[in-house]
Amino acid sequence: MTGEKRIGRGLSLLSGGLDSRLAVCVLRKQGLHVEGVVFNSPFFSIRSAKEAAAQLDIPLHIVDFTNDILELLKHPKHGFGGAMNPCIDCHARMILRAGEMMTQMGFDFVATGEVMGQRPMSQNRQSLDIVRRDSTLEGRLLRPLSALLLEPTIPEQEGIIDRTQLLGLSGRSRKPQIALAKEFGLTSWPSPAGGCMLTEKGFAHRLQEEAAHEGLDSVFTVKLLVHGRHFRLPDGTRAVVGRDAADNASLKGMKRDGDVLLHTVSVPGPTVLLPDCQSEADLQLASQLCAAYGDRAKVANVTVKVIRNGTEQEIAIVPPERETFRQWMI
Ligand code: SF4
Repeated sequence: MTGEKRIGRGLSLLSGGLDSRLAVCVLRKQGLHVEGVVFNSPFFSIRSAKEAAAQLDIPLHIVDFTNDILELLKHPKHGFGGAMNPCIDCHARMILRAGEMMTQMGFDFVATGEVMGQRPMSQNRQSLDIVRRDSTLEGRLLRPLSALLLEPTIPEQEGIIDRTQLLGLSGRSRKPQIALAKEFGLTSWPSPAGGCMLTEKGFAHRLQEEAAHEGLDSVFTVKLLVHGRHFRLPDGTRAVVGRDAADNASLKGMKRDGDVLLHTVSVPGPTVLLPDCQSEADLQLASQLCAAYGDRAKVANVTVKVIRNGTEQEIAIVPPERETFRQWMI
C-alpha cells in the first residue's frame, strides 16, 4: 500500500468544437487521464475531432455510428430540432455507447463538453437530465464545464475527481470559453455552427424524400445523399449527378452490380449514378440529364457513356436545357 491517489480515467466525447476541447483541458488540469471518442456517420465529419485530438495530444477512439443514427432518424423518441436532427436522442445514444466503452475499457467516467443553457433546445437543464437518464450512465456522466450547477457524480463523490476544480458555466455567451481557451493555450478551433448535415433544412428535405421512397434502412442510399445533385425520375429511379471531381470519383467508387453509371465523353461533365435502375425510360432521361450538366459550350451533341451489367455504350445526345429537369430535382 503506497497510499497514492489513483489517477482517474475519463473518456471524453470529442466533437472537436471548442467546448469539447475545453472539457478535456479542465480534466487534465487536475491530472486525470483523458481519452477522446468521436462517433462517425455519413452526416458529420470527424475531421475536427482528429484535429482536436492532435492538438490536445490525446488518443482518439473512432466509433461507427451510422446504424445508430439511422435508427434514431426513424424513431426519434424526443423528436427533431429545427431540421431532421434528433439531437437529444443522438446525444444520449453517443453517451450510452461511450458508457459501454467505459465499462469495457476500464474508464471511471464519461465526460462531455455540454454547457447548461448553451443551446436553447438541446442543452437546457431538462435536456441535460433527459440525456443523463436515457444514456443510463447516471452518476458516471460528467459535464466538467457546468459540473458545479449539477449534482456531484460518483467519481467526484469517490474523490477520483476534485469537484472544486470543475466549472459552473452556463448560458449562451462564448466569452468564458474564449478566455479559457486562452488560459489553456488553445489557438485554433472550428466555429460553433455547422458540422452536422442533419441540421440543414435542404438536406433534411432530401432525407425525408428518401424515407418516403427507399426508407432509411439502406446505408448505401443514405451515404449517397451527401454526394451530388439528386433527381427522382418519373419511373422512380434516383439519379445522382456529380457536382465536381470529388463527387464524380465518389459516385464511380460507389457503383454496385445492377447500378448504371453514365458520364460525358466528348466534353467535361458529370458522372451520374442510377442505383438499381430498372426503367429504360428513366435511363434515357438520365442520359439527357448527364449531357445537360456537361460543358455544352459550342457543341451540338454530347457523347455520353453508359456503363451497366459489364457493358459500355456511347450515345450522342442533343443536350436539353437544365431547366427541363428542375421538376424532378429533390
Ligand atoms: S447536431 Fe447532429 S451530431 Fe450533433 S447531436 Fe444533433 S443530430 Fe447528433
